[in-house]
Amino acid sequence: MKKLLSQIPSINSILLRTEIQELMSKYPEATVKKNIKQEVDRIKENIFQIPINELNTFTVPKIEDMIKNIEERVLLDSKCSLKKVINATGTILHTNLGRSILSEKVKDNLFDVGFNYSNLEFNVNDKNRGSRYSHLIKIIKELTDAEDAIVVNNNAAAVMLTLNTLANAKDVIVSRGELVEIGGSFRIPEIIKLSGCNLKEVGTTNKTHYEDYENEINEETGVMLKVHTSNYKIIGFTKSIENKELVELSRKNEIISIIDLGSGQLVDLRKYGLPYEPTVREIVKTGFDVVTFSGDKLLGGPQAGIILGKKEYIEKIKKNQLTRVLRIDKLTLSALESTLKIYLDEEKAIKEIPTLRMISYNKRELMDKAFLLSEKIDKSKYNIYINDKDVAEIGGGSYPEACLNSVSINLIPLNKSSIEIEKKLRKNNIIPIITRIKGDKLILDMRTIDEKDFDIIKDVINLFG
Ligand SMILES: *Cc1c(COP(=O)(O)O)cnc(C)c1O
Repeated sequence: MKKLLSQIPSINSILLRTEIQELMSKYPEATVKKNIKQEVDRIKENIFQIPINELNTFTVPKIEDMIKNIEERVLLDSKCSLKKVINATGTILHTNLGRSILSEKVKDNLFDVGFNYSNLEFNVNDKNRGSRYSHLIKIIKELTDAEDAIVVNNNAAAVMLTLNTLANAKDVIVSRGELVEIGGSFRIPEIIKLSGCNLKEVGTTNKTHYEDYENEINEETGVMLKVHTSNYKIIGFTKSIENKELVELSRKNEIISIIDLGSGQLVDLRKYGLPYEPTVREIVKTGFDVVTFSGDKLLGGPQAGIILGKKEYIEKIKKNQLTRVLRIDKLTLSALESTLKIYLDEEKAIKEIPTLRMISYNKRELMDKAFLLSEKIDKSKYNIYINDKDVAEIGGGSYPEACLNSVSINLIPLNKSSIEIEKKLRKNNIIPIITRIKGDKLILDMRTIDEKDFDIIKDVINLFG
């Protein structure tokens, strides 16, 4: 054993090798040294694992092989943990995979603003201090007809900030059918509590009438809140009041009306086979005092919480100390402004905003993609089928009951199990590919895969098959 241990190259002798010297000029010295030590320790460990009578079967690895291992590990260590993955699941707004992906159109300004000084809070015309929110006002007004707007970290923050400012520690009336929980522990009752107000539930799970709201109103009422039940649907014997009725009732009683739209969309998506949902412009027109929604759901922009509404209320929100706590940074502002600008031309928005693009693909386009990708897959390693009756989903708690018809490539691996391949695709060092499994089939949905990634997908799939 002693002899074997003495055969392991010393850390110093490895350090002196030119390959290692080169590695240290590119990567942090500490990372290289750590990996040399770990490589040496691993070999020692292996030697200690062998029964003494079998030691003669063991050979110490060559220094060249050790260096190769060290190089590989240093490379892995130097990669960022947060990185690109390929979403082949068919779920468009996949919260775990980053929800909306940004349009290529936002890139230029994002780089300019990120890598240079900017007029974030500086008014170049009069040399005065400006507001970071001012950059968005014009475009938001144009797209929604709202009087004023402000944007914070996400929609959860938008709801909390709005209630904290406007309900003023008083009662918030919400229907029992709208006490929503969104994934990641956003619960309307909890958010109301956090905002320092009292929740007043009205109605029942399936039915809430006009009178239920009316009977609950008293001097302690601060806000009437409508929550879009974006991630579930109550069907059957149901009743909820129309947005218009809620607005009228709140006006009559001089109470502030707020709607948490959740996803919030600027275009009508019925053309693409989805059920009717009012656009943000239509909601504003209904007369709500304040409207909140997400930046990275159906809008297709960066994570953000957009608050629209009457000027006097937005002004109040701006003055709340919490607004400073929840403020968005310049990269988000830049990406959001550029995304919103694309909406000035609705047809372009559908093509250029990936979230909308993926929703709007027609069958022909999906089939073409499936043909193109399936051609590239090694037929000696997989049986390949195209399923033209698959279903994709929007995800992100939007359109819970709606399914999108989709087309997928189904692979049956000939040499391995589909479970094994799924794992290999997901854990590979090149780029993780996230797929679905159904029975013995590995499924790649065409709605969420971009053609620019076809070659990477092909390489990885053919490598592991
Ligand atoms: C998604 C959602 C939220 C939370 O929005 P985030 O931007 O994820 O913080 C709040 N309310 C509703 C109704 C939602 O659907």
